Amino acid sequence: MLQLTHIEKTYTTGEIQLQALRDVNLHIQAGMMVALCGPSGSGKSTLLNICGLLNQDYFGEVRFAGELLMRDYRQAMEIRRTHLGFVFQKFNLVPVMTAFENVAYPLLLNGLKAVEVKRCVMAMLDHVGLIKFAHYRPDRLSGGQQQRVAIARALVHQPKLVIADEPTASLDSETAEQIVALMKSLGREKETAFIVASHDDRMTLHCDKVIHLKDGVIQLEENLCAA
Ligand code: ADP
Ligand code: MG
Repeated sequence: MLQLTHIEKTYTTGEIQLQALRDVNLHIQAGMMVALCGPSGSGKSTLLNICGLLNQDYFGEVRFAGELLMRDYRQAMEIRRTHLGFVFQKFNLVPVMTAFENVAYPLLLNGLKAVEVKRCVMAMLDHVGLIKFAHYRPDRLSGGQQQRVAIARALVHQPKLVIADEPTASLDSETAEQIVALMKSLGREKETAFIVASHDDRMTLHCDKVIHLKDGVIQLEENLCAA
């Protein structure tokens, strides 16, 4: 579903050039849960930003559902809006919007009618166990609850792929456990693929594939279960 071939990424800051990714090849199949591990600075976020079509300044080829990306802003935006979901370490909810409004946002971008939006958002909030908090703003929710809202927002439009950058890094271990289990069960139900950058061993236990990155190079790719 997402295929990266010979990806090279260099950051240029003034005179300094830093090669963040070297000849990265990656294939994420539908419904697959992929963990991306590696020390800080190894290029995980850079790789996720390319997978999420947030950064198109790279060498190499990216194909989404077989279609070669032309580094076209509108094409990328269209694919993000319809097929991708995002979860971040710091949750990144919109502070002035309620949990309901945060989750509704991707559906509004996709032009759904109000009745449909309400039905989907309430079903999704129910799934993540937050129906009672629908009208709370993020500052009244705990970290784990905020991340559950973020997961609901990432999945509400039934994306093909969710990109999660250190989704459990700001959470205590018990909450992290619940978040990992939640992502896994929701992903399985809807056949959503996940690529998750994480230091968290619990995450890798739940994944179909683990990719180890170091200094921008894939060192090892483990297939944990046959698809
Ligand atoms: P990770 O997520 O694994 O910690 P990153 O992808 O954030 O790694 O960073 C990989 C390398 O690229 C690091 O050396 C980092 O300092 C550098 N880097 C990341 N973003 C930028 C940027 N916007 N400009 C310059 N260098 C960057
Ligand atoms: Mg990072």
